[in-house]
Amino acid sequence: MIIIMEKFATEENIQSVINILQEHGFRAILHRGAVHTVIDALGDKTSLSPQRLEAMDGVSQVKLIREPFRLASRDRKSEDTVIEFENGVKIGGANRPVSIVGPCSVDEDYNGLLQVAVAAKELGCQFLRGGAFKPRTSPYDFDGLGEKGLQLLAKAKEETGLLIVTELMDSSDLDLVCNYADVIQIGARNMQNFKLLKSVGKCNKPVILKRGPASTIREFLLAAEHIMYNGNEKVILCERGLKSFDNDYTRNLLDISAIPVIKKYSHLPIIIDPSHGTGQRYLIEPMAKAGLVAGADGVMVEVHHNPPQALSDGKQSLTIPQFKEIFSRLNSLIDTLHLEKSSAPNIVE
Ligand code: PEP
Ligand code: MN
Repeated sequence: MIIIMEKFATEENIQSVINILQEHGFRAILHRGAVHTVIDALGDKTSLSPQRLEAMDGVSQVKLIREPFRLASRDRKSEDTVIEFENGVKIGGANRPVSIVGPCSVDEDYNGLLQVAVAAKELGCQFLRGGAFKPRTSPYDFDGLGEKGLQLLAKAKEETGLLIVTELMDSSDLDLVCNYADVIQIGARNMQNFKLLKSVGKCNKPVILKRGPASTIREFLLAAEHIMYNGNEKVILCERGLKSFDNDYTRNLLDISAIPVIKKYSHLPIIIDPSHGTGQRYLIEPMAKAGLVAGADGVMVEVHHNPPQALSDGKQSLTIPQFKEIFSRLNSLIDTLHLEKSSAPNIVE
């Protein structure tokens, strides 16, 4: 940490900062400039928060040299985290980027879900997604079939062998969702639901953590840190777009640059969700490609057998023929990128 003192900080103010730093095990090095005095605090302590220092008399600013997330940080672990599933599928590192597809929410039409799952399997996708517990902006909208939806996903898994990704909204459903899910999704709206992060941190399932619509990359990584701090290091980040001033043409502003930024600062895998990221079918292919080229470890795309009848996010869901067409092209790109990835070392600087 570097503590920058106010221009008119007194000797007493400076000494108080040095004292508190030393009390907390830091080495304090004083630099007296022409205008400001700056104190270098050397050490690796967590017991003294920058906010506490910032509140002291005479302190102008506290700058962190190290990122506040530790477990998620590249400094702690330079090699990429790879998450492996029982059937040999892997996410992260030099592995082939994965595809996670399926409807926004699971509805009563099991045949429709199965049609999507079969098409996904044929196109080499590894995961079937579908919400059984849906976060909805309006309380009047369909909010999922609950356990029935999970059972339908399990049935589709049995028939296709696809792994299941589904959202958890409430800690009290954790055991239930864990019984069916291969990956637990924490939705964008719950990215900073710290109790929920703590619960999934205490379980052993991989977690897809979606970026909050108004969250910084640092907040995103700190949310992952909460899960990891509670014991679960199997976190897959998901960029799904941010709220922006311009929603005339897109639902969200998909932050493609977050992918290489996160790769630089964290060892965790990150996937891209162009469906929620744009809200527009015609943007899914270019944005999925952009995300993959930027280094994403996978894509998540909404597909419905009959989008006009979908109970959520029909407008952005691909039809099965559209999905087939787009993924045949996406798969060639994924193959090319995979070849490059596996033959080149991962450059993080
Ligand atoms: C979803 O995946 O259907 C979903 C609700 O996503 P998000 O949390 O990113 O809005
Ligand atoms: Mn959705």
